[in-house]
Amino acid sequence: MNIYGLTKKGLEEYFLSIGEKKYKATQVYEWLYQKRVKTFTDMTNLKKELITKLNENFTMEPLQIIEVQKGELVRKYLFRLEDSELIEAVLMEHDYGLSLCISSEVGCNMGCRFCESGRRKKVRNLSAAEMVLQILAIEETIKKRISSIVIMGIGEPLDNYDNVMNFIRIINDPKGIAIGARHITLSTCGLIPKINELAKENIQINLAISLHAPNDEIRNKIMPVNKVYNISSLIACLKDYIAKTNRRITIEYVMLEYINDSVDCAKELAHLLKGMNVYVNLIPYNETENIEFNKSSKKSIDKFFDTLKQNNINVTIRKEFGGAIDAACGQLRSKRGV
Ligand code: SAH
Repeated sequence: MNIYGLTKKGLEEYFLSIGEKKYKATQVYEWLYQKRVKTFTDMTNLKKELITKLNENFTMEPLQIIEVQKGELVRKYLFRLEDSELIEAVLMEHDYGLSLCISSEVGCNMGCRFCESGRRKKVRNLSAAEMVLQILAIEETIKKRISSIVIMGIGEPLDNYDNVMNFIRIINDPKGIAIGARHITLSTCGLIPKINELAKENIQINLAISLHAPNDEIRNKIMPVNKVYNISSLIACLKDYIAKTNRRITIEYVMLEYINDSVDCAKELAHLLKGMNVYVNLIPYNETENIEFNKSSKKSIDKFFDTLKQNNINVTIRKEFGGAIDAACGQLRSKRGV
């Protein structure tokens, strides 16, 4: 297996299993993530026999970047995986640092009607290594550190739960890439059993929920997942999550003209979220060629925003990135058929 897919605990277990001391895992982590060496032979404080063993048991294969598209304050990276599948990651420059939006699956099974990235069915999960390596490859080309990670690219992260959790543990490890949990955001369309599991993980990441509608009637039309986990059960699950973790949740709400952007919808949403420790992030819809939804007008977005405010709901409007290079939310399916 690829060594970048192992948590520190996993690596410790490996060393114990071959009769070595646990602390070797920390040494190897330092080589991988702090010194960023490319071969086991470069890990000069390890014995020769141990290097041979590592070479036998693991690969260190990086991810190949095959294309970079540059826009204003944004870059989209296209990667080729070992089995020739293509995935994307999007780097955004904010005033507070660089954030990277990574993919968690090849394709996606959730089928949200408005999302271009999800038009291709899921082919497979990404391994934890394939997620970690998106970060490493990009940091290497830009020669800068990325300060926050959003798991909001192609795929439904909670539909690839174990690999995504290992990925988070690896990048959050102080001896790993050391990205603080509060700088990691996981976005989900609302897979309730997995949100319940996440609540028990004792990790302080940010959770974002793609809600996009104030009632089942609208949500059923745009998000098939709602037929399995409807709004009232999702809201009950989120209340429970907040009570257990004491963390504020982000509610994502993509503004689709005439679908979910009326003042009545805003009032209904405010009522639904009343008293919850959440904030709403309104997302201007990014139009794509193959999908018939339209972007809400600036006027409707502003009215929606004001209505939520008047009803004491915390709300922001998402800054738009990457539209011109098809790197924005929901557009991550390049014309190459990714
Ligand atoms: N599957 C996860 C993460 C990927 S989508 C999820 O559903 O949250 C990341 C975010 O982009 C989601 O909120 C999604 O609904 C939103 N999105 C999808 N298509 C979009 C589009 N065309 N314009 C704006 N946001 C979009």
